[in-house]
Amino acid sequence: MSEKFISISEAIKQNKGKVAIRGWIYRERGSNEFKFLVIRDSSDIIQCVLKKEKFKKQWEDIDKLQIEASLEIIGQIKEDKRAPTGYEISAEKINIVGLSESFPINKDLNEELLGDRRHLWLRSRKMTAILKIRSTIFGAIHEYFRKNNFYEYQSPIFQSVQCEGGSTLFSVPYFGQKGVFLAQTWQLYAEPAIFSLEKIYTIAPSFRAEKSKTSRHLTEYWHAEMEVAWANFEDILFYGEELIKHIVKKVLDENKEELKILERDVKKLEPVINKKFVRMTYTEALKLLKEKANMNIEWGKDLRTIEEDKLSSMFDVPIMITNYPKIVKAFYMKEDSKDKKVVHGVDFIAPEGYGEIIGGSERESDIEKIKKNLIEMGEDPANYEFYLDTRKYGSIPHGGFGLGVERVIAWICGLDTIKDAIPFPRTMTRWKP
Ligand code: ATP
Ligand code: MG
Repeated sequence: MSEKFISISEAIKQNKGKVAIRGWIYRERGSNEFKFLVIRDSSDIIQCVLKKEKFKKQWEDIDKLQIEASLEIIGQIKEDKRAPTGYEISAEKINIVGLSESFPINKDLNEELLGDRRHLWLRSRKMTAILKIRSTIFGAIHEYFRKNNFYEYQSPIFQSVQCEGGSTLFSVPYFGQKGVFLAQTWQLYAEPAIFSLEKIYTIAPSFRAEKSKTSRHLTEYWHAEMEVAWANFEDILFYGEELIKHIVKKVLDENKEELKILERDVKKLEPVINKKFVRMTYTEALKLLKEKANMNIEWGKDLRTIEEDKLSSMFDVPIMITNYPKIVKAFYMKEDSKDKKVVHGVDFIAPEGYGEIIGGSERESDIEKIKKNLIEMGEDPANYEFYLDTRKYGSIPHGGFGLGVERVIAWICGLDTIKDAIPFPRTMTRWKP
């Protein structure tokens, strides 16, 4: 067929007259006289009706069509209240492009089998909606940083240092050498670059050997990170809040249909763009947990999932928890000059129990403190010489943060698990297909 094909959503917008569409069979049912095919493409679904008497020669093939066969259809579109999207195409021509075997996806598959067939499950309406929102979110992150004059910059993925703790480090074989790891973060390779570019960001995969099974940890996730020269702690909080607001606003503007398909209650997202985020120190968070939830956390212990979730249930916007105890945070975070037990670090906790979406800090400027922290965590400062040079040649106040893109997707889409926020999730027990 040498027709001009349009998307299903464009055909619905046209709403009458002749249209040519193409896609895959989403549902099919037939009788002696008719075949009803619901066709899907990336834009929408539409019901097409084929009359046997019009397709005498092709009927045998049409009758045998199965779900996911690919087709081109030309016909007349008209409103039909009974059809799934309110319109129906009465087919005049059909071209069968690719037949389909019996499609091995159905409602009864357990999580394991659905994981094995992930490549096919991507075609579902749910995954299609999530992947579109994912695309909006990646776009929104680039847009935000570029609008604010950040340069996009890339760190290596093979790295010779660790940054976020040895327990989640992936070692990789490297021509018989030891001490080569997959990136947990770009940070130690980003800080040297702010002396060149001052304001930088990236969106890149980070790797964490997470040994626990949770609904919010992947072993490979996409990490949006930023680093800014001449910045203090307040600047980092400001950028984090603005970025999240920008992302949520963009999705609410551009993905109404997808949020509807996912049955997401958008009322729960609206406060995020309209209200200021809640801010409290770690010590205040402990006090609140004690008073409001009768949870007694010893000062100096990191907040666990249950505590983060309890706090998040008290507010309808993200919470910025600041001034964490030094002992629970990374070696590069700046010690508070008034209270040496705490650092200028922040975690942004998403609403509705979606956990930490941003971790950030002002960076320590005192090279001796950094060396001491490295030694305390069992590292040899000699391996970090390139990093320590950032504090030797024109050191400046600076800071940055990392946002877990799948955490944000899971929250905005209201997903049960982070695994659905990425096309092919990787966890301790899943690396195939
Ligand atoms: P958590 O305590 O939840 O494990 P973290 O403190 O290890 O997080 P950071 O090292 O601060 O996290 O990483 C920055 C951001 O990356 C986090 O705020 C989170 O949004 C995201 N993130 C961290 N680990 C993972 C993971 N395994 N899977 C998906 N996202 C992650
Ligand atoms: Mg972690």
